[in-house]
Amino acid sequence: MNIEEQINSLRAQLREHNYNYYVLDNPTISDYNFDMQLKELQALEEKNPEFYDASSPTLRVGGEVTKNFKTVAHEQRMYSLENSYSKEDLTDWEKRVQKILGDIEVEFTCELKYDGASINLTYEDGRLIKAVTRGDGFQGDDVTTNIKTIRSVPLQLKGDYPSKFDIRGEIVLPFEGFVKMNQERIENGEEPYMNPRNTASGSLKLQDSAQVAQRPLDCLLYGIVGQNTGIESQWQMLEKARQWGFKVPSIAKLCKSTDDVLDFVEQWDIDRHKLPYETDGVVIKVNSLQQQEELGYTAKAPRWAMAYKFRAEQVSTILNEITYQVGRTGAITPVANLQPVLLAGTTVKRASLHNADQIEKLDIRVGDTVFVEKGGEIIPKIVGVDFTQRNVNSNPTKYISECPECETELVRQDGDAKHYCPNEYGCPTQITGRIQHFISRKAMDIEGLGSETVELLFKGGLITNYADLYTLSKEQVLPLERMAEKSAENLVAGVAASKNIPFERVLFALGIRYVGETVAKKLAKAYKNIDALMVANILDLTAVDEIGERIAQSVVEFFENPKNIEIVNRLKSYGLQFSLSDEQLQNQTDALKGKSFVVSGVFEKVSRNELKKLIEDNGGKVSSSISSKTSYVVAGDKMGPSKRTKAEDLGIAIITEDDFLAMV
Ligand code: AMP
Ligand code: ZN
Repeated sequence: MNIEEQINSLRAQLREHNYNYYVLDNPTISDYNFDMQLKELQALEEKNPEFYDASSPTLRVGGEVTKNFKTVAHEQRMYSLENSYSKEDLTDWEKRVQKILGDIEVEFTCELKYDGASINLTYEDGRLIKAVTRGDGFQGDDVTTNIKTIRSVPLQLKGDYPSKFDIRGEIVLPFEGFVKMNQERIENGEEPYMNPRNTASGSLKLQDSAQVAQRPLDCLLYGIVGQNTGIESQWQMLEKARQWGFKVPSIAKLCKSTDDVLDFVEQWDIDRHKLPYETDGVVIKVNSLQQQEELGYTAKAPRWAMAYKFRAEQVSTILNEITYQVGRTGAITPVANLQPVLLAGTTVKRASLHNADQIEKLDIRVGDTVFVEKGGEIIPKIVGVDFTQRNVNSNPTKYISECPECETELVRQDGDAKHYCPNEYGCPTQITGRIQHFISRKAMDIEGLGSETVELLFKGGLITNYADLYTLSKEQVLPLERMAEKSAENLVAGVAASKNIPFERVLFALGIRYVGETVAKKLAKAYKNIDALMVANILDLTAVDEIGERIAQSVVEFFENPKNIEIVNRLKSYGLQFSLSDEQLQNQTDALKGKSFVVSGVFEKVSRNELKKLIEDNGGKVSSSISSKTSYVVAGDKMGPSKRTKAEDLGIAIITEDDFLAMV
């Protein structure tokens, strides 16, 4: 054997041992011998760097350091899942699915819902080339170097894998490893970690991959995305992924009926406590990919899948005090301050009470013993009162009528669940909250300026709104607490650099109520510049895809306020981006203005996402289901039969990919 053959043979052997140990859980070699082989390979690779291979098992030990994780767009969006909490919810969903698909047989697969950090892995020619966190679903962080250290993630696939595809899964930290990690931390005098899930997601963002390699992380896969994979069902997807070397838990079931699904749910609600890793529910998916395709997506989640959440853990504790927080939009949130109590692995001291109605409905009073639950959300909530423990002298809670920050009388508009402090430009918390939102990472992302500094600047009388940031000088900020020459310079430079932030993010940064990231993107695209948006009326605005009455109203109100106009004009004069860039505009036309499209099937020349982007860039609207308002259905290969029938019934033009491309 020559050196190259020797290296390749060692790599193949180690790969196989690794697979047996970490994926199949069935070791075929002693740890000692494994280490010896690995060392041998390491030595050979070091001496013969010309045979470097980015998929070599030696990369498992890590060592590479990532300073800044690159943001990468997902080729296909990573959606959320819709949640259900009862069997009725589940059967309702199955009825909805059946209704959309019509009178055909529908099968479901059930899988566990692994509770960890979502990951998207990209493979090309059988090799892992990229691993990206879910992020906001549209883009995430490139954590490839860290992921490569996770032993159950194959770096090199086996079998008849397609040349390019993405696969999705969850990075989890099994209990056993978690407990061991914590024991070590306690021995070292360090604080133990709170729960496996946060530790798993925190691990992915460690800069030193050698540290990640030390953590007993695992990767459980559940979904393949990509064209030409030859896969026709979710069940087949799981089987294929297993064959290619991925770790896909065998706890899954192909169900022919709703009863089968409920059986699975019932069984695992009990047996989940025996599993080696955390689960928070079951995910039920329509099995046929063609049926999935027909069902499509809502704005947030697939219509073809549903998570069934196991009942959350509940504890009781005493409510010591109710305090009130003021948000940047003036919204008041009541907060329960609790006698600290352990719940699902974390100590809980505070819980959200949502609003006045909620307090009244549950009749929650200070001094009560309350039931606290942790659902999917991070902040636990109070779900009820233990009336048997109530003090007979207690009084019903009187909701505050004045802002706790500025004493202005609160208002509550019809249809709003929340009270608001209307003192937009005088309420200190609202002022600083707006500026803090403006500088935040997803908005203007101003480096060198943090929330605390904003408060100091405001208290020091240096800023009263975000436009004031742009006139700050180094000399002005230097006297502030903890400010040094260098940090003052960074602050001023960070503010200046934000002038290049693109229009849609500036729009988001303005902090118009209900205009989140996605809405800001839609508005920027539709209006192209702030001047057009400023004069838009409610009717214009609601004509934009996904912009409803409530958002439209809020946008109009924002630009009716002379204070806001003045601030926007000032920002303009400082050179912020208030229109789409030439590059963004270049690909945009009005060719499809007023036309609404439904896209169905698989395409040859462009991907589905490219097709949708083309429609939007040319002023058209993409919608997920066919209605009388649909102008065209762009039909690819394998278009769903029920979609076709519906289009034909409504007399809607069905066009091919080529027809469409000719239009733009
Ligand atoms: P949520 O974040 O609650 O909307 O739930 C969606 C997340 O559940 C996805 O991002 C997945 O990472 C995760 N998940 C865990 N197990 C599964 C599974 N078996 N199938 C699909 N998604 C899953
Ligand atoms: Zn106030």
